[in-house]
Amino acid sequence: DKYCLDNLLSQLTSNASLSSPSAQTPSKRRGNEMNNKVFILGSFNVDIVSTLERFPQPGETLHALSNNIGAGGKGANQAYATAKAGANVTFMTKIGKDQFSHFAKEHLATTGINNTIIAESDNSPTGNALIYVCQQTGENMIAVHSGANTEITQQEIIQAEQHIVGADLLLTQLENNIDAVKRAMQIAHAHGVSVVLNPAPYHNETPSLLEYVDMVTPNETEASLMTGIEVTDLDSAKQAAIKISQMGVNKVVITRGAQGVLLYENGRFSEVAAVKCVVTDTTGAGDAFNGALVAQIVKGDSLLDAARFANAYASLAVEREGAANMPDVSLVAARL
Ligand code: ADP
Repeated sequence: DKYCLDNLLSQLTSNASLSSPSAQTPSKRRGNEMNNKVFILGSFNVDIVSTLERFPQPGETLHALSNNIGAGGKGANQAYATAKAGANVTFMTKIGKDQFSHFAKEHLATTGINNTIIAESDNSPTGNALIYVCQQTGENMIAVHSGANTEITQQEIIQAEQHIVGADLLLTQLENNIDAVKRAMQIAHAHGVSVVLNPAPYHNETPSLLEYVDMVTPNETEASLMTGIEVTDLDSAKQAAIKISQMGVNKVVITRGAQGVLLYENGRFSEVAAVKCVVTDTTGAGDAFNGALVAQIVKGDSLLDAARFANAYASLAVEREGAANMPDVSLVAARL
């Protein structure tokens, strides 16, 4: 209710530190040499999670068991994971000029992300999601407002060009406006920077982006939507991978939840079995996977080695509560 939200907002404001975003000039890449640099364009959301005994009826007020505010958004989560996995990360996002923007800056300043490029919208709020979780069933109801995330201008992307060009790899998702995502991909592609697309959530313009993409990392649902093949098992995942590669993408990585990962590269399949673990919260498993995957690739790992590492890293993430609660990479070795 309003009282709770006001309280939460005033806590946020009092904790906020208005550090100005930093953006250093990256050094130029030399040939195909990897410099451990990743540019991530993506979303930032504030998630307000309310845990309830049951969902309210229309017009009803219920006491929540807890209301928690946390950082979210696929872009911010993946940038956090990539930084945790040891890559030099530049993260570009767009937020509002509201109370949540302080929270965004504070969060991003504490995640180990090396450079942040934070555009600010005069008109739209910081992206946010209201999430009800029913304690008894574990089900959720989510109302997400993209806000500033879908207002990144092409001009803002062009202003960040030197940072994109200075990276080894661009990682992006589909929670921002497609024209901005496409522009960033075009810049990267034109300068020989690898483009990795996590096509989440699915967007019907995804096929038009694929000509710029070197590697795509759908989960089973996104692979199904991209191909029209219902991905339910290994065979259907393989068919979908072949179809996606025929759409023009060299490397296809289908994440299969508790089934692990299927890779398709140069006409060859490889599989990585999921690590058996105690599942607490699978939200953000894909974000942990994508972040760790690209961090290993810019260290020079093969795709298979990077996927093994990322699969182990994501298994650590599902053992923890919260999507933005990225584990320490020192724990990965014991799971490889
Ligand atoms: P998303 O979170 O995008 O839906 P997935 O559910 O496919 O993505 O999960 C991404 C990756 O996280 C998987 O490929 C796997 O490596 C790991 N993972 C997810 N769920 C589990 C699980 N129950 N046990 C072990 N690893 C998991």
